[in-house]
Amino acid sequence: MLCDAHVHVGYFRGLYSSPEDVVRGLLRLGVSRWAISSTSTSGKSWAFVRREYERTRELASKQSVLLLWLTPKMLDQSRDLRKYDVLPFCGLKIHGANGWQTDGKPLRRAFAIAQERKWPVILHTGGSPEYEAGRFGPLCKEFPAVRVVLAHGRPLDQALEVMQQADNAWVDTAFMPLRDVQKLLAQGMNRRVLFGSDYSAPASFFKSPLASYYRRRVAALRGLGETAWRLMAERNFIAMFTK
Ligand SMILES: [Zn+2]
Repeated sequence: MLCDAHVHVGYFRGLYSSPEDVVRGLLRLGVSRWAISSTSTSGKSWAFVRREYERTRELASKQSVLLLWLTPKMLDQSRDLRKYDVLPFCGLKIHGANGWQTDGKPLRRAFAIAQERKWPVILHTGGSPEYEAGRFGPLCKEFPAVRVVLAHGRPLDQALEVMQQADNAWVDTAFMPLRDVQKLLAQGMNRRVLFGSDYSAPASFFKSPLASYYRRRVAALRGLGETAWRLMAERNFIAMFTK
């Protein structure tokens, strides 16, 4: 099985990846299961985003683990997130660019809901000092029952430090340099590394076709050892996304 813990539908940097594009692309690459959220959330209405998630389910309900990409505004509109229960979400995706404060009450509230629902929380890390991995250390420790993915694990030293202090902190390999993945494995973190691609985002950063990029990444990570690969691309995914 090949499981991808980090994929998106939606608008991103001027490109649109429809549910059809994404599902077809992933199936063609041999991906069996994926955790998916919508990058359209940042600019589009809930009605639009909801349709994307519904369409994704229509096309691939068995393969898709739906993650609710949550903004502070969405939390304001539904303090207990019940509004979003129209879809079978299994976790939250949080991006600091949407205005979350790492030490603020709204993010703490989102974590409290995740704890109650036994949902994992996927946090974007890197790109700004505001949401570097280390900023999430206190939250990981305050909510030890919540499984947290420090997506991208950036910067790596901070991600590693949080992982060493909090057993519930994981990372995914999306855009992660291979040597960083190696470092994590060398530090004994092989049970807390998830294969993630950020599909289709690489299409807006790299010239090479998305499918070739994807296959190269899989081959490179697989080159780190079959045991480590099976953990990150299968067993760890199951452990993360099974309640
Ligand atoms: Zn992403």
